[in-house]
Amino acid sequence: MEIWLTGLESGYELEHLARLFFPGARLLTQRPARARQNLVRAGKSKKSLFAAVRLEGTCFRARLPRRQETAKEEEYRFCRLLYELLRKATGRRPPWGMLTGVRPVRIIHDNRAAGMSEEQIQSLFLDHYDCTPAKFRLVKGIADLQAPLIRDNQPRDCSLYVGIPFCPSRCSFCSFVSRTIERERALVQPYVDKLCEEIVAIRRQMELCGLRLRTIYIGGGTPTSLNAAQLRQLMETLAQNFDLDSLQEYTVEAGRPDCTDREKLHIMKQLGASRISINPQTFEQSVLEEIGRRHSAEAVVRCFEEARLEGHDNINMDLIAGLPSDTVEGFERSLQRTLELDPENITVHTLTLKRASNLVIEKRSEEYADVSAMIDRCEVLAQKGYRPYYLYRQKNTLQNLENTGWSKPGKECYYNIYIMEEIHSILSAGAGGSTKLCQPGGDKIQRIFNYKYPAEYIRDFETILKRKEGIGEFYACYLDPQTVG
Ligand code: SF4
Repeated sequence: MEIWLTGLESGYELEHLARLFFPGARLLTQRPARARQNLVRAGKSKKSLFAAVRLEGTCFRARLPRRQETAKEEEYRFCRLLYELLRKATGRRPPWGMLTGVRPVRIIHDNRAAGMSEEQIQSLFLDHYDCTPAKFRLVKGIADLQAPLIRDNQPRDCSLYVGIPFCPSRCSFCSFVSRTIERERALVQPYVDKLCEEIVAIRRQMELCGLRLRTIYIGGGTPTSLNAAQLRQLMETLAQNFDLDSLQEYTVEAGRPDCTDREKLHIMKQLGASRISINPQTFEQSVLEEIGRRHSAEAVVRCFEEARLEGHDNINMDLIAGLPSDTVEGFERSLQRTLELDPENITVHTLTLKRASNLVIEKRSEEYADVSAMIDRCEVLAQKGYRPYYLYRQKNTLQNLENTGWSKPGKECYYNIYIMEEIHSILSAGAGGSTKLCQPGGDKIQRIFNYKYPAEYIRDFETILKRKEGIGEFYACYLDPQTVG
């Protein structure tokens, strides 16, 4: 499928709308060469908005007159025109309707804050965006659950993200900047040394601004690709610089069992981690092999049991729906095996197409319905007492479906909520990190980027430190000067 847009100032929304129905569709920059190929066509003339879809030789067309209205109103009418046409041509209704944004829960929070009634919000989702009632119920339930947490947030609250951009091997679907540990082993120790320095610099900025640290999240990559001594060095630095007892939560992504052993699990517990993540992605052995994981499904179970023996009582497990060669039945088995382990959190992601090879994109696009069926199977989590507590979407996920965090009551991951709903600033340390500064009580957001790769992070570390001073400058603007510092 190809997309051809003409006469538009920006075709961004229409392009993404077309990809809701045809995930791998390519945007053309000139008139299509072949007359009979599958095509989504949309354009604007002086007098009308028009859309056409050609699918396996059948053409569907629609047109609307232009009228006096704002650019935003016209964009919505145009998107709706194309959306209805795509629904007619494919016979499909995307579960999220025309909603392409990545933070649907935020829409509820923002509109509540703006004074919209619950009926108006419902109508926004069901009528304006054409979401299914099931998706609206999901998103509303999450917004209700998050509401008290958001109310409790204080202007000076913040969280800290620490990134470890190394992994034991590369998964075939991954688009993250992570480097394989074997290839970059010489960089790991210098990286950890610099990372610890950056943590100290962040602590100084926090003191300067009077910020209160609520959560720490060590993610990646795979943090346990550090050796035990390096993991200890990092976690001791955090313990020396922050009052861990006052935190709401401290997460370490143990990630993969091929580099997480009993000793590292012990260090995590001993040095204050209150939540860890052990991520099977799937329990189907053939799928694990297909995606390039070098560990067995049994190794995940062993790792989980060892974590329990070390006293970890808040464990998350990640699964991915739509992995290459997985099936609805296979995904269901993975869900069941995860439930048998009884973790406190289960996060279900939908495969993101940008993470996949072209072959996978083509194949998965054909299996459109299957991924939706996989996500539907997550109902079993609700039956077992888990509640969805955070949700986000990424562009180019299969069928534009969502990633949802489920937890047992009281075990919700605060960090995930804070970052996703942009409740407070997230200060980031490490390569690839992006510090996101949120204006207390306002909607200004400012980002400070670190270098992407470990080698440049180490080489240009002074620049990283200099940029971190931006934290103090941001808060000097947005907090009352009487109470800063
Ligand atoms: S473990 Fe995660 S970050 Fe590392 S290669 Fe696999 S998907 Fe990417």
